[in-house]
Amino acid sequence: MVVQETELVDFPCPICENVDYDVIHPDTLDNCLPEFGYDFNSRHSDHYRIIRCQSCSHGYCSPRPADLYRSYIDVEDSEYLKNTTQRLETASLVIETIRKIKLSGRLLDIGPATGDFLSIAKKYYDSDGLELSKWAANIAVKKGHTIHSCRLSELVTNTDYDIITMWGVIEHFEFPKDEIIEIKRILAADGIVCFWTGDIDSWLARLLGSKWWYIQGQHIQYFSQRSLDKLFDEQGFKRIYTARYPYVMSLESMAKSLGRYPFIGPLANAIFSNSLFGKWTITFRLPGELFAIYQKQVNQ
Ligand SMILES: [Zn+2]
Repeated sequence: MVVQETELVDFPCPICENVDYDVIHPDTLDNCLPEFGYDFNSRHSDHYRIIRCQSCSHGYCSPRPADLYRSYIDVEDSEYLKNTTQRLETASLVIETIRKIKLSGRLLDIGPATGDFLSIAKKYYDSDGLELSKWAANIAVKKGHTIHSCRLSELVTNTDYDIITMWGVIEHFEFPKDEIIEIKRILAADGIVCFWTGDIDSWLARLLGSKWWYIQGQHIQYFSQRSLDKLFDEQGFKRIYTARYPYVMSLESMAKSLGRYPFIGPLANAIFSNSLFGKWTITFRLPGELFAIYQKQVNQ
């Protein structure tokens, strides 16, 4: 548990700049920093106050520290390494969809962590990644990937990218509009942005409320289809694909992530942890796991 040292700042809506909001989940961090990484310990779901914009319905954390991105530089997460096979299987499914739109070209994966998606992507595309965590970037480089260890605004490129991917990344952005402007800067005319994030308007998110699995301390943006469309439309992008994200998970790691739910969590753990069944994988396509592709319009 790390005590918060920086002051918390109030933010307007990052999508439409409106300052009127409804509080949907009060702060549960109690002056501590959130957990970064995916070991799903007991503090993993503690979060800053989550509010929804009264104008565009976007959900986001406010107040919160103004420079959370710094927290990612020193993130180390050995638990993450255990799920490599699942991520490779997910990447293979996702690439099939991307290849229906673009068969070749230059690809940038933002937030590639240890580079599992890149391992699949580089079979088809000239691919590199941009990663802030030094630990994760080192592992990706050892796998033979090209990794830029800088912020998106600092990335210099001679040739524009055709495809930019972000898997479970945009909900971590402090200022999503600034990041989309940077993406537009390095994307070719008719280039595409492919990503996965949570959908706060999905029926499952509404049903689970504060128990929805996307409610995590490190997630500070909670998008809906409406707020995503507004964000991208205003920067000259058009949505060309939406589906449920195909998430491959072993039964053992499913049990681990269910740990936040009473009764079902301990039960799943007892059945699947360290058992033969635990290694079996299932592909989930759950309501609230949004997979979207937006295309930069040629005249932008
Ligand atoms: Zn708004």
